[in-house]
Amino acid sequence: MKLSLRSFLYDLIFQDKCPICNKKSYWKYSPFCLDCWNEIKPLPNFKITTGKFHQEFWKYIDSLYTFAPYEGTIKEVIHYFKYCKIIRLGRELGKLLSTISPPVLDILIPVPLHNKKIKTREFNQTAILAKELSKSWKIKLELEVLIKIKDTADQASLDVNQRKNNVKNAYYLKKEVKDLNIGLIDDVVTTGSTLLECAKVLKRGGAKSIHAFTLARAL
Ligand SMILES: [Zn+2]
Repeated sequence: MKLSLRSFLYDLIFQDKCPICNKKSYWKYSPFCLDCWNEIKPLPNFKITTGKFHQEFWKYIDSLYTFAPYEGTIKEVIHYFKYCKIIRLGRELGKLLSTISPPVLDILIPVPLHNKKIKTREFNQTAILAKELSKSWKIKLELEVLIKIKDTADQASLDVNQRKNNVKNAYYLKKEVKDLNIGLIDDVVTTGSTLLECAKVLKRGGAKSIHAFTLARAL
C-alpha cells in the first residue's frame, strides 16, 4: 500500500502500538492497526428480528439494525472511543454503521446523554455516530428534540430489571415529532431498555415510526 503524506507524518510523530496485537498502529484507526481494524466483521443480516429484548420492545420499535456483534475488535474500538475520548474512532465507526441501508426516515435522533455526563465525557458518543449517518444518508440530524433529564447509572453495570428501572422517565421530548419517521441511534444494544424508553417518549409525542440503529449488539 502506498503511504500518504498524512500517514507518513503520523508515523513520524506518533509511535502508537495496537492495543490488541501490539503491532504499529495505522493513523486513520490509531491506536488500532489496520489488520485488527479489518477484523471487524459485519453481521450477515443487519436487521435484527429475534432475541431477548424487553417484552414491550417491538411494540415501540418498528425495526432494529445492528452492524456487528459486540465482541473482539469492535468492542475494543467502542471502548477507546467512549472512554479514551478518541473521537476520530467514532467517526470511522459511524462510517461503518452508515453502510446499512435505512428505511424511509425523516430525522435522526441520537440517544441523548444527561448534561452532567456530557460535562465529564466532553461529548455524546451517539451524536458523533449520528452525525456520520446524517452526512452519508442525507437525513436531518436533530440534537435538541429528545433530552435526558435523569442522570442514570451506567446501564452496563446493571442487570435486566435494574436497567429498565434505571432509565424509566429519564427522557423528555422538547420538540414536536408528530407523524415523523425517526432513526434512533445508539452505540450498543443489550436488552433494549434504553432504546425502548426513548421510543416510548417519541411515540407518545406522535412519532409515526421508530427505527433503531446500533453499532453493536451484546448478547
Ligand atoms: Zn492490531
